[in-house]
Amino acid sequence: MKISKIKAREVLDSRGMPTLKTSIILQDSTCASACVPSGASTGIHEALELRDKEKRYLGKGILKAIKSVSLIEKSLKGLSVFDQELIDKTMCELDGTENKRNLGANAILSVSLAVARVASAVAKMPLYKYLRKAFKLKEKTYLLPCPMLNIVNGGIHADSGLNIQEFMIVPLKQKTFREALQAASETYHTLKELLAQNGLTTSVGDEGGFAPKIKNHAAVFRLLLKATSKAGYPNMPFAIDCAASEFYEDTFYFFEGRKLKYKELGAIYSNFAVNFPIISIEDPFEQDDFPAWEYFTQKEGKKLNIVGDDLFVTNLDRLELGIERKAANSILIKLNQIGTLSETIKVIYKAKEAGFSTIISHRSGETEDSFIADLAVAVNSGAIKAGAPARSERLAKYNRLLEIEEELAGKAIFAQNKAFIR
Ligand code: PGA
Ligand code: ZN
Repeated sequence: MKISKIKAREVLDSRGMPTLKTSIILQDSTCASACVPSGASTGIHEALELRDKEKRYLGKGILKAIKSVSLIEKSLKGLSVFDQELIDKTMCELDGTENKRNLGANAILSVSLAVARVASAVAKMPLYKYLRKAFKLKEKTYLLPCPMLNIVNGGIHADSGLNIQEFMIVPLKQKTFREALQAASETYHTLKELLAQNGLTTSVGDEGGFAPKIKNHAAVFRLLLKATSKAGYPNMPFAIDCAASEFYEDTFYFFEGRKLKYKELGAIYSNFAVNFPIISIEDPFEQDDFPAWEYFTQKEGKKLNIVGDDLFVTNLDRLELGIERKAANSILIKLNQIGTLSETIKVIYKAKEAGFSTIISHRSGETEDSFIADLAVAVNSGAIKAGAPARSERLAKYNRLLEIEEELAGKAIFAQNKAFIR
């Protein structure tokens, strides 16, 4: 089935800022669309998100990216929609740069995802199943990913004053995805009550987690402990995303009002992991501070997931460097950091081959698109990070997983501990 038309439009994301929704129309009129997300704490090595930088939408319009999609349309018209890898390669070549700065990774990704979705419709397969076929993935079983839910927002996602960007709960002790989501929701609402009782605000940040003004990180962990216990899940583990590039300057980390060297910051993290049930730490150090990453992975890598987000930016070269230097043991996967589905899948399997755990992730600016839920199941990722169990752009992903779990009844298992290597 061949591509007949590609149409992109400007829509708004969960922060009310422009993003692309792109539709692919096939010769038999089958049509499907995909939206792309947008980050705030973006890594400097990410592929380029093309923005207009003009007056409208405070410079964040994406009309130039829409023009890119018109150029892409000319190159892809007439190609078979089942040739995902050829389509992705054609777009990369048309762009011709390493970071997709000509056409924009947002323009390219919107087409890449819409192609897969419309192809799955033609193949009459659910998207997760089609992805396995399109990329000849060898997975035989199905794993429902363990959700990592960000229920307290800090860093640049909120005005809470916390340095750590995300405090997540990880309901991996539940038996099914549905039960895990229920445990997370009950904990989230219990935390809301506790915050209110303590006179703290229950307003939320960009990813739906609460944003209380507490500068002391240990106090947040203590509140989370209370919330999980009170909700009836006393053994629920935690995870954090430090997004440390945001509080790093000139070899120092500015954390809780102190100016720290990486070993001092590492000691604080180790202490958190001793006192609280933390199983995973994302971006503990700055995106190019390899000595810090190597030191910490060597010290804590047997006990903790050390997750590279800004460090790896879903980029094969960065990941290979990280594997060689033993800088982490886990990778966060974000489609829009690299810009095509094919490149993303390559990175996921390179990570798996190296024994890394993989976490498929949303961005802080999201849409109703639930593509990452299907992607997580297709590759048996084991873990997914999609924000709080609140706000529909976050729930779109979790709700899609509920649907997939039902569809795969008896054939899929909930990842539980398989989500993480250790
Ligand atoms: P971002 O945050 O989408 O703003 O980059 C998410 C993350 O850092 O994991
Ligand atoms: Zn991150």
